[in-house]
Amino acid sequence: MKHYSNGYIGNRVLKLNVGFLLANGPGNIHETALDIPTIRVAEDVDLDYLKGLLRLTRTKEGILVQGELQAGFETECYRCLDPIQREVSLQIEELFGYPEPGDCEFSIAEDGILDLAPLIRSEILIEEEHSILCKPDCKGLCAECGENLNRGSCSCADDTIDPRMAKLKALRDQMR
Ligand SMILES: [Zn+2]
Ligand SMILES: [Zn+2]
Repeated sequence: MKHYSNGYIGNRVLKLNVGFLLANGPGNIHETALDIPTIRVAEDVDLDYLKGLLRLTRTKEGILVQGELQAGFETECYRCLDPIQREVSLQIEELFGYPEPGDCEFSIAEDGILDLAPLIRSEILIEEEHSILCKPDCKGLCAECGENLNRGSCSCADDTIDPRMAKLKALRDQMR
């Protein structure tokens, strides 16, 4: 098994050999349990784990993959950019076309290999689009100095009068 320098395993484990199921013909079902540790699903998707049960059903058009997977990954708070550990539940229901892709987004290779990696990748990218906060009242970063305001206030947030405000006040006083 290929290991990346960060300890993530390669995505070969997501390539399922379904040749036997294709040979068995429509109506046949095979269940497969995934319990995968840190894995690099794709260049842009690393997971801390991926587990769950998938049911593969041979249909006339190919193989229908159904099930629920749990995936853990690291993302960042959209306000303060601190790392956050997330766990998401992926509801999988996807037809992998065979022997022709047909209308399917995914298909099974001629050698009978069903590669889950592109599907898992797109599911995770959808999850990542939901921006989340490290906590509901995350204070974010100071727009002036970039300080993480959850870890204390920066000098920009001092209560002393802002020099620009002081100037305005002086102008206003003059006009009276
Ligand atoms: Zn935050
Ligand atoms: Zn600041």
